[in-house]
Amino acid sequence: MRDIDNLTKLYSSLIGEIGEDINREGVKNTPRRAAKAIEFLTKGYNEDLDKVVNNAIFSTTNDDMVIVKDIELYSLCEHHLLPFIGKCHVGYIPRGKVLGLSKIARIVEVFARRLQIQENLTHQIAETVMKYTKAEGVGVVIEAKHLCMMMRGVEKQNSIMSTSCMLGSFRKDQSTRMEFMSLIK
Ligand code: ZN
Repeated sequence: MRDIDNLTKLYSSLIGEIGEDINREGVKNTPRRAAKAIEFLTKGYNEDLDKVVNNAIFSTTNDDMVIVKDIELYSLCEHHLLPFIGKCHVGYIPRGKVLGLSKIARIVEVFARRLQIQENLTHQIAETVMKYTKAEGVGVVIEAKHLCMMMRGVEKQNSIMSTSCMLGSFRKDQSTRMEFMSLIK
């Protein structure tokens, strides 16, 4: 766990440094609130994947594609500490094992609640699903809007960034990949 008092001090000097009066009524308690917020938004660093998955791996004879789509995603870009927000779609073809449904969303959460770039986040989710299910193939697609593009710099309000990671049969077999892509549309 992080030291909330230390984080509070850091936010306090940051708020002072940008020219705000740290004793003003409205922002008096902001350093502590911000410290708690960043603690929550980066809690993925303190999570253990084995505990998150918690043996929710079940035997199956099903070898049809399993898809969990539209998983809400909130993360922070590692370059600007600004949010990126979007959706994550995960698909895999089981090879004897399926993962409890909510666990896929929890895996997304563990990696999203860290400082990230979207490409790495996509890969980490795919590799983790592969690691726990030993699936025949895994596909992950993330579509997200980046506040660092919308609020600063180029100020592109409507651009959506898409990233994908295809492993196993999702990478090798075009028809599998196409099936996945059409099912998440
Ligand atoms: Zn950024």
